[in-house]
Amino acid sequence: MSIALVIPDRKLDQLQQKLQQQLPDVTIEIWPQITDPTAVRMAVLWRQPPGCLAEMSNLQALQSFGAGVDNVLVDTTLPDLPLARIVDPMLTHSMLQYLQGVVQHYQLRLDEFGAQQRKQIWKARSPRQLKHICVLGLGELGQAAASHFAGLGFTVSGWSASPKTLAGVHCFAGDAAFSAAVNEADLVICLLPLTAQTENLLDQQRLTLLKPGVILVNVARGAIVDDLALLQNLDSGHIAAACLDVFRTEPLPTEHPFWQHPAILLTPHISAVTNADTAVAQIAENYRRSLAGLPLLNLVCQQRGY
Ligand code: NAP
Repeated sequence: MSIALVIPDRKLDQLQQKLQQQLPDVTIEIWPQITDPTAVRMAVLWRQPPGCLAEMSNLQALQSFGAGVDNVLVDTTLPDLPLARIVDPMLTHSMLQYLQGVVQHYQLRLDEFGAQQRKQIWKARSPRQLKHICVLGLGELGQAAASHFAGLGFTVSGWSASPKTLAGVHCFAGDAAFSAAVNEADLVICLLPLTAQTENLLDQQRLTLLKPGVILVNVARGAIVDDLALLQNLDSGHIAAACLDVFRTEPLPTEHPFWQHPAILLTPHISAVTNADTAVAQIAENYRRSLAGLPLLNLVCQQRGY
């Protein structure tokens, strides 16, 4: 019996070794070098090429190598098997550190001082008043972010699909409540999964509902934001600044206007990366569970898309 690592364009030797240490009796192979596809019981997936699982006729479980599953579910040939994702306190910690840094960056006006420096302008300014933060998506990462900023004394609102109760956070749910969730926020953080419902969710109509002068932070997926609508709102000043860690196409194409826009701070999808050590422990546990007929940890609903 074996596990297939189907994560193209990545060096996987270390992941393979670490997983082998956790599961010494299991064959761990890196796709496309799979000795016997019929022996594969679990496939670990990230941006897998469609059809690559076709010969693995005895697969029992699928494991995303990340917290998101959009780039796994985009494969229409994916077998209808239990799919799990990584939920990792280390990843959450790294996301909180990133968001904390971003909020401080804008509070201290480092964006504006950077622009002044490039023009050799010496002009002191008091910190930006960022009092209200809205978090779109109140899942593993969104709840952690909302609670973190509420704990620091910010007014925090949060928005999710189903109603939530979270200490110190004004929770809103469903499309009709979007406006109420965002309209007072000085800074909006997007932590939604990319699904059929959330693709282009932040379009012209919804961006207009944000408070004038708002700062938008997207650490979820690029395709949730309509690029053109964002650029128009930045140019008009309705959105004061945007911090983007994720993009519709990654790496961001060289000709994309985001690269040069003075109001955009751009990072190359680094806000929270999967930690190999914690990930292998979860993959190994899910492999054991799958063989024992137990439900996988951190299961995803394939129909819902997250
Ligand atoms: P999660 O636990 O699945 O939570 C998703 C949240 O979004 C839930 O609260 C859900 O509402 C809400 N939601 C989903 N569809 C919605 C809709 N149509 N309207 C309103 N709310 C909706 O996800 P997570 O672990 O927090 O991660 C969120 C996303 O962050 C991931 O999907 C991934 O794309 C991204 N991510 C990015 C990085 C990075 O490095 N930049 C790293 C990790 C993850 P309910 O609770 O009501 O279902």
